[in-house]
Amino acid sequence: MLGSATTPTSPPRAVGRERDAIRRPGPVASPAPSYWSSLEPLLPQVRKPAQYVGGEHNQRVTDWQAADTRWLLCYPDTYEVGQPNQGIQILYEILGERETALAERAYAPWVDLEELMRERGIPTFSLEAHRPLWAFDVFGVTLPHELGHTNLLNLLDLGGVSHRTAERTVHDPLVLVGGHAAFNPEPLAPFIDAAVMGDGEQVTLDVDDVVRAFKHAREPGGELASLADGHARHELLRALADVEGVYVPAFYEPRYLDDGRLRRTVATETGVPAMIPKRTIQDLEEWRYPRKQIVPMTETVHERFSVEIFRGCTRGCRFCQAGMITRPVRERRPETIRELVEEGVEDTGFNEVGLLSLSSADHSSIAPIARDLADCYEGTTTSLSLPSTRVDAFNVTLSNELTRNGRRSGLTFAPEAGSERMRAVINKMVSEDDLLRTAETAFSEGWRHIKLYFMIGLPTERDEDVLAIADLGIATYGIARRYGKGNKVTISVGGFVPKPHTPFQWAAQDPPEEIRRKLSLIRHSIKDHAGLKLRTNDPEEGVIEGLLARGDRRVAPAVERAWQLGARFDGWHEMPTLETWRRALSDTGVDLDWFSYRERDEREALPWDHLDSGLDKAWLWQDWQDANRDQQLDDCRWSPCYDCGVCPGLSIEHDTGYTGGFQLPILPTGLGGSDALPSTPERYASGADT
Ligand code: SF4
Repeated sequence: MLGSATTPTSPPRAVGRERDAIRRPGPVASPAPSYWSSLEPLLPQVRKPAQYVGGEHNQRVTDWQAADTRWLLCYPDTYEVGQPNQGIQILYEILGERETALAERAYAPWVDLEELMRERGIPTFSLEAHRPLWAFDVFGVTLPHELGHTNLLNLLDLGGVSHRTAERTVHDPLVLVGGHAAFNPEPLAPFIDAAVMGDGEQVTLDVDDVVRAFKHAREPGGELASLADGHARHELLRALADVEGVYVPAFYEPRYLDDGRLRRTVATETGVPAMIPKRTIQDLEEWRYPRKQIVPMTETVHERFSVEIFRGCTRGCRFCQAGMITRPVRERRPETIRELVEEGVEDTGFNEVGLLSLSSADHSSIAPIARDLADCYEGTTTSLSLPSTRVDAFNVTLSNELTRNGRRSGLTFAPEAGSERMRAVINKMVSEDDLLRTAETAFSEGWRHIKLYFMIGLPTERDEDVLAIADLGIATYGIARRYGKGNKVTISVGGFVPKPHTPFQWAAQDPPEEIRRKLSLIRHSIKDHAGLKLRTNDPEEGVIEGLLARGDRRVAPAVERAWQLGARFDGWHEMPTLETWRRALSDTGVDLDWFSYRERDEREALPWDHLDSGLDKAWLWQDWQDANRDQQLDDCRWSPCYDCGVCPGLSIEHDTGYTGGFQLPILPTGLGGSDALPSTPERYASGADT
């Protein structure tokens, strides 16, 4: 999201300015009030007012009183960034189909509206019926990254709900977080009631069952009716902790060694699990969502109908948290994809279709899927797109197929590192020949612009690895020029941030000064190649993300202090949040160097060790050691299982074969049978990856 949203026109609110408190006006009225009449007159005064209006195609407005449970699902950023989020759309639809549940959505108001809301006492509201946050039973927040943490606190406070879980009562909404950043929720531990780990579809319904049962038990005559409020809230949290995949931080306590390192995190409540496993849905076919995708009212970062074509990734890129925590791979059938696309395009009127996954060109049937959809929409204005991590000719062929209807403008590849050695370290199996051959194919087939994505600050990186990025860019640009003077190459370079549950979770992050120095090496190397464009992120951007990604509970006071000082929208260039954060770190004594710029050793307990992503810590450590020896590891879809820990017990085969592809048996290396495994499919053999 960093830098991906459109530029706001309003100035950010002054740092450190005291907030007007929003207070709940007493017991929840039934039905909950709508704040529309107070909100509407303010909209002409703020930027992009349409984002607060609601009324989109496919939104659901459910009878408040008919529902047993009421959820407010939130993406803690602006509507334009959060509206397309698939996670929210899936859960919104799943809950909306339940007769007993009501689900509405909320996004963060931009600073201009927030200021007016605080002045007028308007709380965080739902988009559907402009109901206040404080009236809902559950506030479910998705955290795709760590830069929404201060927004979460702000939304609670603005919603008339204490940002501290210890101060909330049984009458307040439960505050749940999910998404990738929920795999280390420790910096948010004092502020959330629970973190939900893994695939959200089934666990959301399980949580809904718990909340509904609890509400019934609190009704007159119910078994918890006479319980004091404080005890009742404890009972509710206790019942939540029994749901597989739900972590209630209040029932766990970190213990530290004298030198400041974590000793371990222990359960302090009888009967709660010592390790909390993530939830994994086994068959995507059973969860065909979203079917009724919401069409935005105003500009958003992605305006397209999206279908998730598979979940999980086993390519094993060592920097990639998403790939690691979403294992194993589960594919959707081509015929289901076709059905979802056809119904969705017809229903929504979108003229772009996104075939989503972590590396969509890796679907075992992607070629027939692409051909089929391209045939279906040939001659129409509907275009097709897919994010891919592959750098190979197959990807170009696929892109050619998907762009039959349009211009061949830009192709994006992500070799991620400049030198072959560095790509071995990160397990991105792409040779320089692969990349240059792919560029040759693309430009020769009429593509005009190639963007190459790289990271710097990677473990074991040396200056020659950084300079190799410039060399690769220059070589690609040389090819571009041979096929047309107007052809372009852009290299995009960002700083690496180590993430939990990856082999790089032990690595030291590069401080911003070092990232800046490395960027200047690249800039200097390409200065004589005017047509080769370099795009960089602000080196400071990874500072807060890195701290929150691997911080423990001792970082929470800094989150709270930063928010109190005015930090929010931490991923937006326009917000002066780093300066605010530095002050918050100083006020709370949180040592950035210690949390971010220090390598951990094998024996050190990590703040997320009790949160089980399925990956064996011993396997992750082994893979980290392999990285340090420049050793690569194959994708277990096409090679023997190396026993990372995820699949056993899931009743899942690594299934790429609905359409007659390969059904790979799950046999850890060394347990026999690997010789009989099929070799890498031919269509993958020619290329390397993106
Ligand atoms: S357990 Fe084996 S097959 Fe499953 S994701 Fe891990 S390495 Fe791959």
